[in-house]
This record gives sequence, structure tokens and C-alpha cells, in this order.
Amino acid sequence: MDSLDYQALLAPALAEAQAGFEEGGVPVGAALFDQNGQLLGKGRNRRVQDDDPSVHGETAAFRDAGRQRCYRDTILVTTLAPCWYCSGLIRQFGIGTLVIGENANFEGHLDWLKEAGVKVILLDDERCKQLMARFIEQSPDIWNEDIGQCDH
Ligand SMILES: [Zn+2]
Repeated sequence: MDSLDYQALLAPALAEAQAGFEEGGVPVGAALFDQNGQLLGKGRNRRVQDDDPSVHGETAAFRDAGRQRCYRDTILVTTLAPCWYCSGLIRQFGIGTLVIGENANFEGHLDWLKEAGVKVILLDDERCKQLMARFIEQSPDIWNEDIGQCDH
């Protein structure tokens, strides 16, 4: 569906990320759309807010969308490149298209997703980059906790 405006689909994900930042949480937001760009679900990382490390932006949007018969035609939009956990979710359920706000602050595993046939679109969005960079600078400990970086 190349007629879709992927940049426009970033809006709800970015709004979730900004809300997360204002709550003191990890500012990663995501949204799941159908092939026509209809919003199915959205959410944000809630590690800090809910004391729940399993709620990443992508998993929150996935849960918010509820059961879908097939994910091949869905589009997952996320403000930051997905971690292994969320990349696994994308492959597990066969999500067809992934739109990423940026991967300057976290590189992600885009080759692994492309190998599985996922269409990956990188927007390189300045707003996403700046929001994430601001968070990493002010809360490096929470960030390292979120990406599974510990001292051992
Ligand atoms: Zn994740």
C-alpha cells in the first residue's frame, strides 16, 4: 500500500511517546493500523508508570488492537526501532509492515526483520530523535534498564 502517507501514521505513536515522556516514562509510542491506514490500537511504554517491564510501546499497541485474524496486512508504527522482544512479536505474528520514527538512538534489528520479509520503512524523524535523546540524557539508568543493559 504505497499510497499510504507513512509520515502521517506516525502522529498517534509520537503523541503516545510524548505523553510517556511527560509521565516520566520511557518515551516510546506505537500504533497498529490496518492496510488502509485505519487505527487498530495504540500505546506507549509503561515500564515506569505501571512498574511493568513487559509493556513496551509496540506490545501496548498490539494488545490495544485486540485479536486480529491475520497481521500480514497490518502496519506497526513505532517511534524508535524495536528491541529484540518487540522484533520477536513482529515475526511471531507476521506483521507485514514496520514504520520506524528513528533508529539513531537505538539501532534495532532491522536486517533480522527484513530477512523475514517485513517491509521496513525508516522515517528518520527529528522529533522522535530529539525526544528520545532528551530522555536518555536525563534518565540513563531507566534507559539501560529498558534495553536490558546491566552491569553483569
Ligand atoms: Zn520493545
